[in-house]
Formats: sequence, C-alpha cells, structure tokens
Amino acid sequence: MSKNEVPYKIYLTEDEMPKAWYNLRADMKNKPAPLMNPGTHKPMTAEELGGVFCDELVKQELDDTTPFIEIPEEIRNFYKMYRPSPLVRAYCLEEKLQTPAKIYYKFEGNNTSGSHKLNSAIAQAYYAKKQGLKGVTTETGAGQWGTALSMACAYLGLDCKVYMVKVSYEQKPFRREVMRTYGASVVPSPSETTEVGKKILAEHPGTTGSLGCAISEAVEVAVKNPGYRYVLGSVLNQVLLHQSVIGLEAKTALDKYGIKPDIIIGCAGGGSNLGGLIAPFMGEKLRGEADYRIIAVEPASCPSFTRGTFAYDFCDTGMICPLAKMYTLGSSFIPSANHAGGLRFHGMSTTLSQLYHDGFMEATSVEQTSVFEAAEMFARIEGILPAPESSHAIRVAIDEALKCKETGEEKTIVFGLTGTGYFDLVAYQKYNDGEMSDYIPTDEEIAASVAKLPKID
Ligand SMILES: *Cc1c(COP(=O)(O)O)cnc(C)c1O
Repeated sequence: MSKNEVPYKIYLTEDEMPKAWYNLRADMKNKPAPLMNPGTHKPMTAEELGGVFCDELVKQELDDTTPFIEIPEEIRNFYKMYRPSPLVRAYCLEEKLQTPAKIYYKFEGNNTSGSHKLNSAIAQAYYAKKQGLKGVTTETGAGQWGTALSMACAYLGLDCKVYMVKVSYEQKPFRREVMRTYGASVVPSPSETTEVGKKILAEHPGTTGSLGCAISEAVEVAVKNPGYRYVLGSVLNQVLLHQSVIGLEAKTALDKYGIKPDIIIGCAGGGSNLGGLIAPFMGEKLRGEADYRIIAVEPASCPSFTRGTFAYDFCDTGMICPLAKMYTLGSSFIPSANHAGGLRFHGMSTTLSQLYHDGFMEATSVEQTSVFEAAEMFARIEGILPAPESSHAIRVAIDEALKCKETGEEKTIVFGLTGTGYFDLVAYQKYNDGEMSDYIPTDEEIAASVAKLPKID
C-alpha cells in the first residue's frame, strides 16, 4: 500500500460507531477467576455485590458468556459528543525514526477529562441514574477518573462524591477545580469523614494517602448512604467491557483500509484501556482466527505483571473490598512517587491477568526517565502533549519501531494514546530540570508485601 493511501487520521462516521460493547470473557476458555468474599472465601453473589455496585453493572460484572452487550442509545449519543476518537497514522514519527514500521495510535485525549476514562464513566453514571439512585462515590488518584465521572454525573444530574488521594489533592489543585466545576464534592483521602479513614490516619499520621485508602473510604460512604453506590474507573470486568469501544472503533478503522496490526501496545495501570483496545483483536486470537503480539507496558516502579504474583488479593488498603485473583504486588505495596499516577495500582484486571497467565499476551516494564524522553520526542514530532501514563506505550512503540529499523521488517504497530498531560506539568518540570529519578523496588520489598497476601487454600 502506498504511503498516501492511508490518511493521517482515520475517522469513522457516526453510523460506523459500535452499537454494542464486546465482552472478551465470552471467548475465553479459561475464564477470569470470580471476585471472592473476603470473609467466606466464596464467590461474590449478585446480592452481595448489589450493596456496593449498581444492579445492571453487577450483571455485566458477572456475565462471562454474552459476547455483545448493547450500548444504550443515551450512552451512544453521549459518545457522539467526543467520539469516534481518531486513529492516527504517525507518519511524522515514522519519518523521524527512519523506520520501515507503520505506526498508528488511537487517541483518547479528545475530551475535557483528557483520557479514555469517560467511556466507562458515562456508562456507570447512566446505570446509576436508571436505577433511580441519588449519587455515586468513587476515588481518584491522579484525577482523570474523578474528572471523567464528574462530567458524566453533571450531564445526568447525579451527585458525585470523590475521594482524592491527598498528595494529588494538594499537588493538582486544577484537577480538583475541574471536578468542582462539574459539581462534584472532592475530599482529600484519608479523611476524618469515614471510619476507615480515621483508622488509617490513626495508624499512619501524616500519610499522603494512596489509591487503596481512597477506595476503602469511597466504598464505606456508598454502603452507609441510602441511594448511593460505588463506582470504579478501572480493574473491573465492567470497565473493560465499556472500554471495548476503543478497540472496536480501532478495528473498524483499520479494516476500512485492510490493515492488520502485528503488534498492539498499551499502558497498564488496572488494565482498562489496554483491555478495551485489544478486546476485538484478542477475541480473534482466542478464536484462532488471527494472531497478534500484544504488549502491556507498566512502570518499573509498580511492576504488577512482570514482578507480581498471580493470586487472590484485596483491591484496597482497608481490606474491605472483595478479593480478586490477579497479578499483584500485594495490597500493602506502596509504589514510589512515580509521575504516572494512573499506573500506580498494586493489582491488575482479572481478565488481563488470566490472559497473561495463559500466554496470550506479553508484559514489559519501563523506567520513567526513558518514558519522559519518549514523551518529549512524541510531543515535538506528533504535536500532542501526552499523559505520562500514555507515554509508557509510546516508549515501547518507539522501541519496537527501532527494532524494525534494524531488521528491515515492515511491521504494523498500533498503540493506545490514552490521554493528554496538561495536568502533569509538575512531572514535565522535574524532567526538564533533570530532577527525575527512577526508583525500582527491590526483590525484598516486593516479597515483604506479597508475604502479606490473604491466605486462600
Ligand atoms: C487511568 C489512566 C491510565 C491507566 O488506567 P488503565 O485502567 O490501566 O487504562 C492510563 N492512561 C491514562 C491517561 C489514565 O488516565
């Protein structure tokens, strides 16, 4: 195919946008292990989950047989405000790298929240509204999820209570103000507003918080307040389901030009953007219809896949959430101050964990200074200022393209560009000032938190 046949941006018409989400689990022979009740060690029932999550979302969470789940028209209309997202051919980057590889990226930063998280936020808020609830509670680390959920709740007229990891609350006042502008109440976590928050503060005075703490607080508030449920921006099966819109659009766009990717790359925090991007491709792989190399990229400071253990663990620090079987560093693992806040979770999606365990995908970890080198290069060449999380995928896409340059192979690489980095300028400042460091946990540190995994026989 000659270079000019594929445009710089492949757009879809509204008609070509997906009308159903794709549930990857339906095509998995080895299903992801069920969420488990931490008290009884039995799989969580719909009734138990219904106390925390919205009913329709519980149904989606537990459904591992229905391949396609219709996207309600109201959600499809909301998607039309900022989707389809462009699939971009990175001609300029290819030229700069002098690589024979063909590089594409699916850009999810084209909305005010600045990331893919809005795809699931609107779905979760929609089902809460449909159930007649007053509002939802959640946690946010770097702030992208809280922002996305605030936007969705504002649109639907739902109350939104966000527990924001204290260090981010203080370091990212502008994110906080975006959320408040969309009507959310934002509380720094840990806080005195919950029992679990008080307990954590008593045990660790002066702590700047963690995602795991904030989850515990948000869950407690949802369970104690009638008319409220908890929503989560990553990790869960339902979130991967909603994010499949990314992969379905990407696949339709590629199919229009008869393009078949060789390598698909995405950053992995809790696994939602990667799970969504790869969904239809992985489906083909699982059904034996096609083969792709799929690579998850994680920070060397929080290497759940590459150095974690595949076991049941808590998703939160307060140990009140269900147990999930996943690649984990242990729920007591506190990653060092990496600037990719969205990738600092100790665990990983149960679906991606099972697929990785079964050899359907690869994982690699990268250090943040090399991530920011890639981010800076990408910003200068392709024009977009990428989020630090997304830049993990950029790093590995560039590395794979450079390998093609050595071997002369014309591989087609697709990566997920999950968001923009306008609220991450403190991180860019550190990088520009040469003050960024790479902290890699020692084997002993990881072993210490893994030793505290709950004992399940
Ligand atoms: C939250 C976030 C991620 C990581 O979350 P996943 O669930 O692993 O996708 C990656 N990129 C951006 C921009 C994010 O906001």
